Amino acid sequence: MVYYPPRSNPPLPPIPDNIPISEFMLDESYGRSPLSSSLHPFTCGFSGKTYSWFEVRDRVEFLARALAKEFGWNPNQGTEWDKVVGCFLLNTIDTLPLFWAIHRLSGVATPANAAYSAPELAHQLKDSGAKALFTCLPLLNTSLEAAAKAGIPKNRIYLIDLPSQITGNAKAPAEFKTLDQLVQQGKILPQLEKLKWSPGQGSRTTAFLCYSSGTSGLPKGVMISHRNVIANTLQINTFEKPSRDQLRAEDPRISKFDVSLGLLPQSHIYALVYICHSGPYRGDQIIILPKFEINSYLNAIQRFKINSLSLVPPIIITMLRSQDILKKFDLSSVRSIFTGAAPLGAETAQELQNLFPTWAIRQGYGLTETATVVCATTPLDIWFGSSGNILPGVEARILTPEGKEIHEYDTPGELLLRSPSVVLGYLNNEKATKETFKDGWMYTGDEAMLRVGPKNTEHVWIVDRIKELIKVKGLQVAPAELEAHLLEHPMVADCAVIGIPDDAAGEIPKAFVVKAPAASGDDSAVTQAIKKHVEDHKARHKWLKGGVEFLDIIPKSPSGKILRRLLRDKEKEARRKA
Ligand code: AMP
Repeated sequence: MVYYPPRSNPPLPPIPDNIPISEFMLDESYGRSPLSSSLHPFTCGFSGKTYSWFEVRDRVEFLARALAKEFGWNPNQGTEWDKVVGCFLLNTIDTLPLFWAIHRLSGVATPANAAYSAPELAHQLKDSGAKALFTCLPLLNTSLEAAAKAGIPKNRIYLIDLPSQITGNAKAPAEFKTLDQLVQQGKILPQLEKLKWSPGQGSRTTAFLCYSSGTSGLPKGVMISHRNVIANTLQINTFEKPSRDQLRAEDPRISKFDVSLGLLPQSHIYALVYICHSGPYRGDQIIILPKFEINSYLNAIQRFKINSLSLVPPIIITMLRSQDILKKFDLSSVRSIFTGAAPLGAETAQELQNLFPTWAIRQGYGLTETATVVCATTPLDIWFGSSGNILPGVEARILTPEGKEIHEYDTPGELLLRSPSVVLGYLNNEKATKETFKDGWMYTGDEAMLRVGPKNTEHVWIVDRIKELIKVKGLQVAPAELEAHLLEHPMVADCAVIGIPDDAAGEIPKAFVVKAPAASGDDSAVTQAIKKHVEDHKARHKWLKGGVEFLDIIPKSPSGKILRRLLRDKEKEARRKA
């Protein structure tokens, strides 16, 4: 049985497939809110620096001209893979304009997690074939090391300014061109050729290459097309409009556009599509914060009267634990919060609701592979624990482990999805692509069930994760990546990594290790050596905060597959006894 989105969903408008995202976002004829000098899509939450939509449009065009000159790129020549640009950045007001300038040239932006170590970044730059790298001062050293490994010359590294609250007195070395200098350069360059895209080109052409491990294995480049992002932007806007209209009809003081929080990393699909495309397309103003720190976050809400917060569960937990700090700020502008990327338990949602009774606490679910949201609760149909109603244009199926259709409500199985936002596949990885995208469906690796909610509508509940992925503070950790890294250590003969529950981070990685003969010293010395091996080479969220446990043997199936379920059960049992 196929679960179609509720009939009450308004129909989706046509999804253009012959334009890049930049044109969709910057040309009013595609249904976005009118370009206006009074609307500002991105504003810095520290310095208040901002550009109107008109200024953004000009900056994109000038930047595209300068990039075309720097690299000898022509918008209508070569494939997108000739024009891949790495973006290793803390959040900035210029990140989306940079992405759109790359798209204006029919190129690909590959955003990397700002927490990455140099080897992790180098892997992404090499794997994606990046020809240039945009970064910012605090990440410059890591960028230089990674770029050298990936064969990107120094004169292909560019800097984007950050507010002085982040960089302090540090000055950018003059040898690196800045994005602002490129914009200035572009102002006096000749106009670029108009893009001549054929019908369907937007469906075939990769716009973003984001990295995700999917259901198993190492992080892979997820090929997200222009049409994928355009589709999800339209799906979200179409889905959210009726409840927004109804709320405004009930209370005319509610503004048509949100002032919204842009704190989550712009390199991750949630911020990239939901916050930074869908919001601005509607006309929202996004207040950009480069990193999370509770005081500056609350201060930004108060200063800019932010009314919509897009969060992940660990930030909600931090808020609940910092109630004395919350009291110092005026948060009365906030009307709704949206959480995703990891499960928000019903109890935690209720705790937050008790603290802020007027907030609409919404949850959404999505994946990099679905170019983000496929279901979400609306302010008028909230059910704590639920990930909400299916968006227009999304179809869902639920299968038993044997592959049989589940027709009943309240019965969990693997969630399969079909949507115009389902991505093109994994770059240079046909095997993983075939395993995940089969017969027109995307196999999520998540266990879900459909339930009828209090308003008599169908809700999706995410029950568990079947796939290997660990989510730490909403960020991906691929067990296979850590296992491969641990096996490089002389003290490790064999190993397996699983996620264990953690109050603050949601989950944290724990390693089970079989010691090699070279493992000298007591267990605690070996544990320290193994943890250090991870800390020296991997981003902080991948560190073995869940500890190291020694085993005589790693449980495996006859074909050599790690039996993670046994390790998880073992862990549960140990916790129960503790
Ligand atoms: P990513 O590609 O990094 O966005 O990770 C996608 C994965 O995050 C999904 O497959 C789920 O396992 C998890 N996820 C995202 N949103 C939710 C949610 N609302 N509840 C539970 N898990 C979620």
